[in-house]
Amino acid sequence: MNDTPVTVWILGDQLLRAHPAIEAVEAQAGRRNMRIVLVESDARIAQMPYQRKKIVLILSAMRHYAASLRERGYLVDEVRAPSFVAGLQRHIAQHRSQRLVTMAAAEYETRRFQQDYLSQALGISVEVLPNTQFLTGRRNPFPDVEPSQRVIMERFYRAMRRHFDVLLEPDGSPTGGAWNFDRLNRRPLPRSVAPPPPLTFEPDAITRRVIAEVEARSGGVGTATGFALAVTHAQAEAALADFVAHRLAAFGPYEDAMSAAHDVLFHSMLSPYLNIGLLEPLQIVRTVEEAYRAGAAPIQSVEGFARQIIGWREYIYWQYWRLMPGLRDANAWNATRPLPRFFWSGDTDMRCLRHVIERAIATGYTHHIERLMIVCNFCLLAGIRPSEVNDWFLAHYVDAYDWVMQPNVIGMGLNADGGLTATKPYIASAAYIRKMSDYCDGCRYDPKRRIGPDACPFNTLYWNFLIRHEATLRANPRMGPAVLGLARFDASEREAVTRQAEMVLGEN
Ligand SMILES: Cc1cc2nc3c(=O)[nH]c(=O)nc-3n(C[C@H](O)[C@H](O)[C@H](O)COP(=O)(O)OP(=O)(O)OC[C@H]3O[C@@H](n4cnc5c(N)ncnc54)[C@H](O)[C@@H]3O)c2cc1C
Ligand code: SF4
Repeated sequence: MNDTPVTVWILGDQLLRAHPAIEAVEAQAGRRNMRIVLVESDARIAQMPYQRKKIVLILSAMRHYAASLRERGYLVDEVRAPSFVAGLQRHIAQHRSQRLVTMAAAEYETRRFQQDYLSQALGISVEVLPNTQFLTGRRNPFPDVEPSQRVIMERFYRAMRRHFDVLLEPDGSPTGGAWNFDRLNRRPLPRSVAPPPPLTFEPDAITRRVIAEVEARSGGVGTATGFALAVTHAQAEAALADFVAHRLAAFGPYEDAMSAAHDVLFHSMLSPYLNIGLLEPLQIVRTVEEAYRAGAAPIQSVEGFARQIIGWREYIYWQYWRLMPGLRDANAWNATRPLPRFFWSGDTDMRCLRHVIERAIATGYTHHIERLMIVCNFCLLAGIRPSEVNDWFLAHYVDAYDWVMQPNVIGMGLNADGGLTATKPYIASAAYIRKMSDYCDGCRYDPKRRIGPDACPFNTLYWNFLIRHEATLRANPRMGPAVLGLARFDASEREAVTRQAEMVLGEN
């Protein structure tokens, strides 16, 4: 066995129980010759004003991860430094490492940095192993598809289900007799239903120290105080078990419902853990599949949830890697307005937006439909520049990373990629928000009006969007029926909508 010291660099969002770089180096060089390093980079933390609870999550999970590796007998170096390079240089000088092994980052810029720059900066050889946090990292279901070709999510999802044998019968047919049970879902939340709150975790000494450090930093969104997320594998697994026991069964029916009274409803709140490696996709899918086989949850909830994990999440990651680096600059609807200032405070009379923004600031979480049909819907209708919306999401959410943000915000939410991620723009007037939420009750605006001082801005902007983009929308078979509504509008009605939209946009 070779005695040259080898360093394994683990990124803060790669805290896998079985890390491929640790396993590879241990097998090649032996545990004695391996040093595992985790670097807390000031420059990375200060890259933008991030949600403080997210910084606590990552730093605390990294420190707990380092402690658990030490308990398992590994030699671990935790470095706090101005940058990744400075931290790694310090570590390498101290331990005289000749080689560094790391797993490819999920994010484009960091992966470029690992592959193209790191070896030169450190003056040693660098090996970047394939990323195993995503199932598409192990198997690309459509390797020959060009970036300009569209692959719809449903096709992608079925390929993933077949390959990883998820919710399939022995003859290969889908469990429950269908691939998709959406027709049974998408219900609003009845007033009589009270979703059980998700499990929270009392901060221990490590987390309390991180909270104090993060509170002492300037900048950032929200507060570190009140942090109650999982920071270890065991806690994340307890959060998964809690979801399966208490919320999975009703996940499907209420997955699109929104409520001012409940943040999480029947969602899992597992994305913060999945995205940093405390949980893994197949582990989650096998757990919910078992719950179905044990009769603990109906097929429409279990299939709907599995589709989020091996369908949407993997599809988004796959889209990111095939569309980068051009995705960030995509702007198919030529949206040029700046993000309204109220996005940083929640100070708006639109009750739905106020609730969602205030929640994002306070907790770093809002569920999928609020991100899509409240925040992105407004931004798309109002013509806000996609890169600004992307940065707002990146700054506010505890589960935000470049790989998940760009395809979701620029692709799905704003349809700025020319329809490569979603086949139609997700736009809606107040009628949808009223049907799926209780936000309109008590709002200063009238969800039934599109013109006049009390008109709901979502209505005005929705019809204004249809008028402005009528020709493009008519050409999209999925949008045709929405544009038909414009037939009722004479010239003066169109003019009134346009004028009111200018007023709404001028005010915001
Ligand atoms: C505009 C916009 C921004 C988003 N930003 C993020 C983000 O920063 N980070 C993030 O992880 N997800 C993001 N999503 C996807 C999705 O909204 C969140 O994953 C989900 O709300 C997290 O809450 P949950 O764990 O309770 O999800 P659940 O509803 O319980 O879903 C289960 C899991 O499915 C996965 N999932 C479902 N849909 C998606 C999707 N479209 N993309 C990726 N994963 C998905 C998540 O891992 C999630 O934990 C965004 C979606 C939109 C439309
Ligand atoms: S009336 Fe309009 S602005 Fe108010 S909550 Fe409903 S959709 Fe939102």
